[in-house]
Amino acid sequence: MVYVVKVDQDTCNGDGACADNCPNQVFDMVNGKSQPTRADDCVGCMTCVSVCPTGAVTVTEL
Ligand code: SF4
Repeated sequence: MVYVVKVDQDTCNGDGACADNCPNQVFDMVNGKSQPTRADDCVGCMTCVSVCPTGAVTVTEL
């Protein structure tokens, strides 16, 4: 499975919940916002989507 991970930069509040909880360290915090810099490592567990308080993270199957 290949997953597309996106973080809406306008909605992201920079709390780092996705980065803290992703089992595969997909996210890096850049200038106070989350970036899915290692999206290729995503396994589609949806934890990041669940923990994001603003709904900024989306994960879709390619
Ligand atoms: S779905 Fe799971 S593996 Fe993929 S980016 Fe989110 S927390 Fe990480």
